[in-house]
Amino acid sequence: MKYSLVNRDDRISIELTDQFRELAAQLGMTEDRESPDVVLSIGGDGTLLHAFHLFIDKLDEISFVGIHTGHLGFFADWKPDEIELLAKLMSGPKKGYERRIVKYPLAEMQIHTKSGTEVHYALNEFTVKGAEATLVARLDINDETFEMFRGDGICISTPAGSTAYNKSLGGAIIHPSLETIQIAEIASINNRVFRTLGSSIILPRHHHCDIYPKTHQKIQLFIDHLQVVHDDIQSIRCRVADKRVSFARFRPFPFWTRVKEAFINSDKPQP
Ligand code: NAP
Ligand code: MN
Repeated sequence: MKYSLVNRDDRISIELTDQFRELAAQLGMTEDRESPDVVLSIGGDGTLLHAFHLFIDKLDEISFVGIHTGHLGFFADWKPDEIELLAKLMSGPKKGYERRIVKYPLAEMQIHTKSGTEVHYALNEFTVKGAEATLVARLDINDETFEMFRGDGICISTPAGSTAYNKSLGGAIIHPSLETIQIAEIASINNRVFRTLGSSIILPRHHHCDIYPKTHQKIQLFIDHLQVVHDDIQSIRCRVADKRVSFARFRPFPFWTRVKEAFINSDKPQP
């Protein structure tokens, strides 16, 4: 088993990284930063987002596991004191534990500019905002004009990302077994010219939406935690990606239990 490590770069995460390396060597696992089987993220959900983008070109070959060194994470579900158990589980089968690969859908964004097309993938979401002024854009769904948007921005999230920015925007929480993208508004202005739906929309796999920003607008795009600025965007197409991300699970930790523990009663011990 080949592994790679990504950490948040704080004292505890670095200590755990060293500890894992030692355990892994004893268990006969090799560290391989280029083509690992498993990527272990030590830190928070943000650390796993970082790991995801580091290995974006190898998603078909690898699976992710996370140890959380802060509060309970959505992606990082192992506690620091379980590091030895996790290392053993990663090194081979262990009685009483089953290894499962869980796949989550991703969002795909195609940015069309005069000079070509860029394709990006998000584990949480894409956010489209005006970089200097209010975002003005037309939103089409399945090639038909849906609405004229004016406001702070538009958030297109995956089911895994539905508990992140999307949740703050009043979007619904979606189970990651549903292959969807959710479009949520960020502070839309509503008047006679600009009229938006107001509710978030959930598109199935075979639908797509296109965002046509008003010409020559400077657009700020967030792809999970990464930011890019463009001033020559013609349109942005969003859809459920054909690629998926894999997580290695060694024990059940149902999504709704995570939601409950993260947002309702976080003081209760983890199962
Ligand atoms: P950050 O500012 O540290 O992240 C904000 C919070 O979101 C952190 O508590 C982070 O957990 C948590 N988080 C990340 N992914 C999550 C998920 N799938 N479900 C539930 N919580 C999640 O920045 P970051 O760590 O680089 O993460 C980037 C993410 O921040 C973006 O993808 C976006 O979803 C989110 N964000 C939220 C808002 C908002 O709610 N108003 C605004 C901007 C960005 P950790 O502390 O464990 O990292
Ligand atoms: Mn963070």
